[in-house]
Amino acid sequence: MADIIIIGGGVIGASTAFQLARRGAKDVLLLEAKTICAGETQKSGGFVQTLWPNIHEVRLIAKSREMFRDWANVVGGDCGWTQGGYLNVTGPQRESAVRAVYQMLIDEGLPAEWLDAEQLARLQPMLNMDGLSGASWEPASGWANPIAATRAFIAAAQAQGVVVREGVRVTQILVDDRKIVGVETSQGRIAARVVLLAAGPWSLPLHLGEPLPIVIERGQVLYMNRPPGVAERELAFYDEITGLYTHPIGDKRLVGIDYELDRLANPDEYARSLDKAYVDSLKEKLAFRFPALAGSEIVSELAGVYDFTPDAQPIMDGPVGGIAGYYVATGFNGTGFKSSPATGLGMAEIILDGAATSVDLKHLTIERFAGGARPAPLYPPGAGPVPIAKPTPLPSLPPALVEKLEAIRAMLTAAERDQLLPYMASLGADRLPAFASALITRPAEEVAAYLRTELAARFS
Ligand SMILES: Cc1cc2nc3c(=O)[nH]c(=O)nc-3n(C[C@H](O)[C@H](O)[C@H](O)COP(=O)(O)OP(=O)(O)OC[C@H]3O[C@@H](n4cnc5c(N)ncnc54)[C@H](O)[C@@H]3O)c2cc1C
Repeated sequence: MADIIIIGGGVIGASTAFQLARRGAKDVLLLEAKTICAGETQKSGGFVQTLWPNIHEVRLIAKSREMFRDWANVVGGDCGWTQGGYLNVTGPQRESAVRAVYQMLIDEGLPAEWLDAEQLARLQPMLNMDGLSGASWEPASGWANPIAATRAFIAAAQAQGVVVREGVRVTQILVDDRKIVGVETSQGRIAARVVLLAAGPWSLPLHLGEPLPIVIERGQVLYMNRPPGVAERELAFYDEITGLYTHPIGDKRLVGIDYELDRLANPDEYARSLDKAYVDSLKEKLAFRFPALAGSEIVSELAGVYDFTPDAQPIMDGPVGGIAGYYVATGFNGTGFKSSPATGLGMAEIILDGAATSVDLKHLTIERFAGGARPAPLYPPGAGPVPIAKPTPLPSLPPALVEKLEAIRAMLTAAERDQLLPYMASLGADRLPAFASALITRPAEEVAAYLRTELAARFS
């Protein structure tokens, strides 16, 4: 017996459980079919940026970002928040669309800067600037650890009386006379007055009434190592031109690309290993945009499931379908982590007070999809990754210079030769011309001696 049952121990169920407890709700029971964070949350890249083409989402993310930044005081524990900043680079063909979203942040009073090509190259010198004209830069954004955040929500909820039961699968939500009366589970029936369906991509078969307007699709990401000695500014990065996104995590790097997703019939049945075409394209784009990372090796690969609504925004609503006590928080479109602190807060207010007051969730009702009506698409027509321009072929070097370069390389040890490319990438646009000129004008022995000293200073 419980007053409120939450179905699902992902970040959405966990955040709502925490906020319910914080607001004094009693007899809250969270049921998780497997273990906390066994679903899609564990696969999240943890990106938290406010550059988002919808003002409602922007506000939810901004509110959430405040909570991520002040996690120890708001929730307790550690969510792995890293405020590396979020850099969204673009080229001439997409610049006006990105500037429009950037302007929305400025009008909203959120910290953001527009960087022209020169400022961008200075901020992240390891970038190949081919095709880039500028960037939106959010110094207050970054990334967090989705598993740590979810566990912290759960720990704080439990400390305030929420009961969490793992290994209990809900098989049916029970209704009598248009009122919630409980749930049927793998371990028997549990009575309750309120049920919140927050089972991520697994919500569809449990939902009461008309099928949820959600499709599920398989997505892919990679973790790669970080070659030693590459001087990089650690930030979260998205490239409008190649569709490449990445941020460092300790000695690893999360890397993904915008890529065609596979529609799924079942969130448990999909290929776990990545498509060769995806991996090849990702490596090509990484090497193109970050030449110093061309040698990065794959550490692990990950396929996951996104739950998409027609307007790429979640459903957070209740009572749903005229059933007293029935609430839904699902369909987070592959972007639910970044707004989860605020969406949990709003969902708790909807359940306890009848409406969200600390945040605006009015646009997320299920009725917006009634009668097949579809809001305008989130992205402007024509958006989506554009093919990367092939780099202009380099002019061939004079044979005498090639011979000299070979002689210099031969004077270095194998380890020093491996360090050469990262070293040159780290020089940046301001020091490279002087280095190239010295390479041409000074004797080979002198250049080799200079390089040995430089490499030892940088990599030892
Ligand atoms: C590859 C990938 C990368 C992503 N990267 C980002 C990112 O960088 N930033 C961002 O903001 N978002 C990102 N997301 C999206 C984000 O991870 C999700 O939107 C968010 O985690 C959804 O949380 P959830 O609680 O709704 O679902 P889930 O985490 O899937 O939780 C649902 C839980 O319900 C449980 N459950 C299922 N059925 C039952 C049942 N019958 N009874 C009881 N329990 C049940 C499951 O075991 C699961 O633990 C990414 C998603 C993927 C797949």
